[in-house]
Amino acid sequence: MKKLFTVVFVFAFLGIYAQDIAITEDDFLRGSVTPERSWWDLTFYHLDVTVDPENKAISGSNLIQFKALKNGSILQIDLQPPLKIEKIIAQNEELAYKKIGTNAYHVLFNEEIQRGQTQQIKVYYSGKPKEAVRAPWDGGFSWKKDQNGKPFIATSCQGLGASVWWPCKDHMYDEVDSMAISVSVPKNLMDVSNGKLRKVEENDTSKTYHWFVDNPINNYGVNVNIGDYAQWSETYKGEAGDLTLDYFVLKDNLNKAKEQFKQTPKMLEAFEYWFGPYPFYKDGFKLVEVPYLGMEHQSSVTYGNKFQNGYLGRDLSGTGWGLKFDFIIIHEAGHEWFANNITYKDAADMWIHEGFTAYSENLYLDYHFGTKAAEDYVIGTRANIRNDKPIIGRYNLNMEGSGDMYYKGANIIHTIRQMVNDDDKWREILRGLNKDFYHQTVTTQQIENYIIKKSGLDLKAFFDQYLRTIKIPVLEYQYDGKKLKYRFTNTDTDFSIPVKVYIDTNPIWIKPTSNWNVLKQKGKAFSIDRNFYLESKSITD
Ligand SMILES: [Zn+2]
Repeated sequence: MKKLFTVVFVFAFLGIYAQDIAITEDDFLRGSVTPERSWWDLTFYHLDVTVDPENKAISGSNLIQFKALKNGSILQIDLQPPLKIEKIIAQNEELAYKKIGTNAYHVLFNEEIQRGQTQQIKVYYSGKPKEAVRAPWDGGFSWKKDQNGKPFIATSCQGLGASVWWPCKDHMYDEVDSMAISVSVPKNLMDVSNGKLRKVEENDTSKTYHWFVDNPINNYGVNVNIGDYAQWSETYKGEAGDLTLDYFVLKDNLNKAKEQFKQTPKMLEAFEYWFGPYPFYKDGFKLVEVPYLGMEHQSSVTYGNKFQNGYLGRDLSGTGWGLKFDFIIIHEAGHEWFANNITYKDAADMWIHEGFTAYSENLYLDYHFGTKAAEDYVIGTRANIRNDKPIIGRYNLNMEGSGDMYYKGANIIHTIRQMVNDDDKWREILRGLNKDFYHQTVTTQQIENYIIKKSGLDLKAFFDQYLRTIKIPVLEYQYDGKKLKYRFTNTDTDFSIPVKVYIDTNPIWIKPTSNWNVLKQKGKAFSIDRNFYLESKSITD
């Protein structure tokens, strides 16, 4: 999701206090791989939930299946109040459990589960889940009505965590291999969740929609979207064969949606070119209208951008190119590769999701409108960079870094593309990331090492400076028409990257360090290639 404006908003309020947020036991329980999490590996969930729009309430169960990686008898699951656990069943017996902190529970097995064993527990729960006030920024249930007064309901929970509406292992490092989602809704409504619809069951007063996700899925990707939907479908002939595209919008919006959503196959064409095959062919791709801006829910990307181009009609780059595409279709679907296929293990590394996905916006433009348009766009988005705090957040606390993970992230990646200086190779790296880390949760270190290895560039100091500090290297130079003197300042001493510069219109590669270097070259004017995200300063004697 695109969070830039929220971050600005929140920081305007918190000001300097943001630095000093107290760490609580709840942060640690939510954000770290506790001993009660580490001994078991998720294999399958079956979430079965009834949604009651009239009372803004839910009830149901989640079956949690796992494999023991070592012996263990205490297992942590998470569920946020005011939702309550009613009981936990394993092999027809009720298990004891106790609350730990505000949002976590320890489930106590009667006997030790042996390493290698597969077990399952079923957690029954109910209550009125937290209502999202500013979805998707705060998260929870959005209980809205459509223009005809019918319920229009959706969940969102990035950051906050899926345990705001269902009991789960609420940490990103571990994903199920597959998941069933059954949602019961009043008869006049429809539920759209992730994966493919297997069947619809008719009950006395409700209908149950049975969805199945045939791929690993992260917690916050799971969603329910309930409304009086109209649907249409098409088949996309992609790199891995036929991909089913299903679209769900409120009935009144069908005509404008059919026009606007023509960008979906164009999105797939651009992203399959740059990133490789869409990562969830078996689950299809869905675009689903919701009563909030949008979110990268896996294989059911949610949409609320009002059927117009830009970010709610605005161009985030200020160049005009941002109005050539529907921000939510392109950005949220870009997350299918970076967030859903390649997923961070720890929220501190969230730039893996947002940096690459913000970068994907310019690759969409590159594919359909050319390299100059793409460059204009990504360079234009630099106006959004604040350099307020590092992009990498704090580990083990579910604590993300600066909102700069979006457009500083995109410009970091764009700068690496320039240094690679070979678009075929660059494309192989982007596709290679999606192939070699297919359906995996990763750390930033893995991504950095991969790019270093495949590019052959020594980028360690580059990543450290751009991701872990707020200092932007300054290229100091002096040019007298005969020789160029240049060096980097505002860097760590071992920082050095190749930079493309021009004497008049002649491109030259230099490799500045923190020491002055000299290059003899006759000409009139010196300039630095605008694609490098650097600062520069002309020095006079
Ligand atoms: Zn995003």
